[in-house]
Amino acid sequence: MAEATDRRSGPPSSSRPARLGAKAVKGELGRGERVLPGIFRLRLPLPWPGVPHCNAWAVTAAGGFVLFDTGMHQPDSLAQLERALAMCNLRLQDARLVVCTHAHSDHYGQAATVLERAGCELWMHPQREHMTRMAEDPEAVLARRLEVARQSGVPDEPLRRYASERRTRQSGISGLIEPDRELVDGVSVETDVGTWSVHETPGHAPSHVCLFEPQRRLLISGDHLLGRVSLYFDYGYTPDPVGEFLHSLEVVQALGARLCLPGHGRTFTDVNAHIEGNRGLVRERLASVLEAVSARSLTAFEVLPHVYGESLSPENAHWLLSKVLAYLTHLRAVGRVRQIPGDPERWAA
Ligand SMILES: [Zn+2]
Ligand SMILES: [Zn+2]
Repeated sequence: MAEATDRRSGPPSSSRPARLGAKAVKGELGRGERVLPGIFRLRLPLPWPGVPHCNAWAVTAAGGFVLFDTGMHQPDSLAQLERALAMCNLRLQDARLVVCTHAHSDHYGQAATVLERAGCELWMHPQREHMTRMAEDPEAVLARRLEVARQSGVPDEPLRRYASERRTRQSGISGLIEPDRELVDGVSVETDVGTWSVHETPGHAPSHVCLFEPQRRLLISGDHLLGRVSLYFDYGYTPDPVGEFLHSLEVVQALGARLCLPGHGRTFTDVNAHIEGNRGLVRERLASVLEAVSARSLTAFEVLPHVYGESLSPENAHWLLSKVLAYLTHLRAVGRVRQIPGDPERWAA
């Protein structure tokens, strides 16, 4: 999920070094800045040590603005959003529409609160089960995750610690609301700056979309492309998240964007180089996974240190295992590895 994702994935390189520790993160304030006429970056604090903030983007429209993403719901988060907006001379009640790039808590978490304040519509992608299941029944999702982890060879002890740590964590979502319109290919979003076309870009999350404004070639990229290449795939909701992500990179590359407005960190211009960077890292990870299972059959848990050189902790467990399983699933889809059923299940080249 997003929490684990972003905690590890990290924002693009910022002028400040990563600020670790809950205390420093707590002191973060929402900040707003104009990046182009009519386009404002709202930098909102996150409670995650490795990733101190996320971006929402306000783009002027119809006497108010369209809000692309919302930031996460946490104590004081609405005040931080309002603070960031005020720095751009904008008021929350003038939001005309909320558009979510995907249903992770740092991008969708405050949608319910914003809608309540602004009385506007919410648009997002229909395939958001990865979020609704968690919000509706966190215990069932946790139980399923534990079962997947156990099947993947994770020993009992880290699983127990992971489960107890997860139970104390807030969802980061202020309320579960149905979108007024489903964001799929062909839909567009009108703003004063131009018309943004919607492009489905699953992989990071099944619900992911990017938005493209062709006149200035601007891309609102969510977590599909970040300034610093970092990968995460929501595993278990679609047949091949890695394959979907690689296809989504092609979709975005074909747009020819010149400036990227990402979900974390600063804007960047060398969009193609970032797309290539993502492809390169996926190739590298797939090669390490394949190499690991070439010598002998392994569980996903045993593959993990070959790829990441890290041992599992409650903080990284779900995040790393999801990625390894996503890579194995992709290698199976392209006929490079086979899954050996059992308890735990194993994988072989
Ligand atoms: Zn995300
Ligand atoms: Zn994010």
